[in-house]
Amino acid sequence: MTATLTAATRGLVEITGVRKSFGTTEVLKGVSLTVEPGGVAVIVGPSGSGKSTLLRTINHLEKVDGGHITIDGQLVGYEVRGDRLHELREKEILKQRTEIGMVFQNFNLFPHLTALENVAEAPVVAHQPGKARRSKAEARRRGLELLDRVGLKDRADAYPRQLSGGQQQRVAIARALALDPKILLFDEPTSALDPELVNEVLDVIRELATSGTTLIIVTHEMGFARDVADTVVFMDQGQIVEQGTPQDIFSNPQEPRTRSFFSKVL
Ligand code: ADP
Ligand code: MG
Repeated sequence: MTATLTAATRGLVEITGVRKSFGTTEVLKGVSLTVEPGGVAVIVGPSGSGKSTLLRTINHLEKVDGGHITIDGQLVGYEVRGDRLHELREKEILKQRTEIGMVFQNFNLFPHLTALENVAEAPVVAHQPGKARRSKAEARRRGLELLDRVGLKDRADAYPRQLSGGQQQRVAIARALALDPKILLFDEPTSALDPELVNEVLDVIRELATSGTTLIIVTHEMGFARDVADTVVFMDQGQIVEQGTPQDIFSNPQEPRTRSFFSKVL
């Protein structure tokens, strides 16, 4: 175990044989996935196949029952002592989570904070070892820069209720970027949006993808997946059934389950 964990890892994210059960139901049945630095993995698959659970194991919002995950060579949620894994203390886990940005379907902005405060608050509050805690002024400056990046500099003082769903989700993306995470996770970032607001959010994610941010994205937007993914991962019933380039998966799927899924959604 120790040897495999200290061996040089190829991927920025290495998910190895991850298992997870809820009660007697095994919802992840040994999932392995590598995402290279700057890579974009898009996970698709039917509802209930374990996509959200897999994302949540990456930042230890769900504990794995088997297997392990490393980010930049560092085990997530555990440390090796002797030849056994021990769960990290809460403080250490929170520290690790500052390296992993997550964007949810329902934005999850703080309703009583402005757009800028939502973005700028995180780096002031979060303790980042190795990085100085940012001053308020510095966090504001950086917050405005990030709002500019998602096209919302002019809405910095608006409260979430004054923003459209698409704008709120763009603020949520800026907030996820504020801690300079090594990787960003997206769980169906456009599923709660009215159709006319979907593209403004996808455009922001597309910009991140082309600028070299490492991304893992769960989405049902197949056209977008084809555009941005280096790797498309098809999950069904707690397993990765097939993965490959968009061309492989969309145009030449090998597995009957993959073909059957795409025949319904494409
Ligand atoms: P997906 O995101 O692909 O729709 P999920 O990861 O949300 O799938 O869910 C996979 C399975 O795990 C589903 O059967 C779901 O009902 C179950 N599940 C997810 N979270 C929990 C939980 N906290 N407790 C019990 N069952 C859960
Ligand atoms: Mg889900």
